[in-house]
Amino acid sequence: MTQTYNFSAGPAMLPTQVLQKIQQELIEYENSKASVMEISHRGVDFMEAAQKSEKDLRDLLKIPSNYKVLFLQGGASAQFSMVPINLLRGKSKASYANTGHWSVKAIAEGMRYCEVNVCTDSSENKFTDIQDFKNWNIEPGSAYLHYTPNETIAGLEFDYIPDVDIPLVADMSSTILSREIDVSKYGVIYAGAQKNIGPAGLTIVIVREDLIGNVVSGQPKLFDYSTQANNESMFNTPATFPWYVAGRVFEWLKEQGGLSAIQKINQTKAQTLYKAIDTSDFYSNPVSIKYRSWMNVPFLLADDSLNGLFLERAKEVDLLALKGHRSVGGMRASIYNAMPQEGVDALVNFMNDFEKDFG
Ligand SMILES: *Cc1c(COP(=O)(O)O)cnc(C)c1O
Repeated sequence: MTQTYNFSAGPAMLPTQVLQKIQQELIEYENSKASVMEISHRGVDFMEAAQKSEKDLRDLLKIPSNYKVLFLQGGASAQFSMVPINLLRGKSKASYANTGHWSVKAIAEGMRYCEVNVCTDSSENKFTDIQDFKNWNIEPGSAYLHYTPNETIAGLEFDYIPDVDIPLVADMSSTILSREIDVSKYGVIYAGAQKNIGPAGLTIVIVREDLIGNVVSGQPKLFDYSTQANNESMFNTPATFPWYVAGRVFEWLKEQGGLSAIQKINQTKAQTLYKAIDTSDFYSNPVSIKYRSWMNVPFLLADDSLNGLFLERAKEVDLLALKGHRSVGGMRASIYNAMPQEGVDALVNFMNDFEKDFG
């Protein structure tokens, strides 16, 4: 296979070194005489992999010891329900920031369990900007504040952590591990794996221990954080293969120098691409500069009728999956951790050439 760069928003590209390592050990995992997909999750080989992956994740994110890390299924979408089920704790109201497509989904599900107070709403500016935090209307008595640090579709990302005295809940699906964060500011962090962690099928939840237990009654036992927290995420069969791959990704991240190193690389990648967009009259990005995403970069061509040709030519030079989300149009380049600077450089070169030929 020639060198390709895959800009898919998710499931997204994995580091080539990780894919090679998985290939090497696919038929026989460690000394287990079987593939990692074929062994018991309770056997010593998988248990070791599970424990090591948790330890590496804790090291990478500097997760304090009073937080549990859960390796679940159901995607980020299942957390839209599990968050209210576990965090309402007798209250009838929760505050949600609406900054994009995924916020909207979380809000819709939250409304099935409680009164949702939308404390800020970016829909008025088509999710291109975020209202100043001091003007948010977080209602007293809210059980928690839910927000989406990076909105994957519009490419809108917070450059700060909201400071609140109620549990802060973050859907970090498309930004987790892209930069350093202070986990202690959060009550719950959750993320579907398929953007910046590993294959689809795994969801990581980082939850402060005092928020575990005391769930809304009559809900599935599997949706109670304590069920999995008390069983090392093995109350039922976990997604063993994605979990194992995630472990290999965490090892790779450590080899890259951890999150402080990856953060610098990500910032440079994003700057490279936004600079190319901003210095051209042909490409544009509508997001407020302060809140531009480092991970998902949507951009429009001055002439919409060239979208098809752009995608076709890009594919010819092995730049894949650049089609924008239908709600935004144009293009979107997702540049998660696995995307090297060379991939962004190749995209920028292609964009410049395309503009010369057709702009
Ligand atoms: C992709 C994505 C989701 C949906 O994740 P699933 O794992 O498919 O449920 C939710 N939130 C954000 C921010 C996402 O990027």
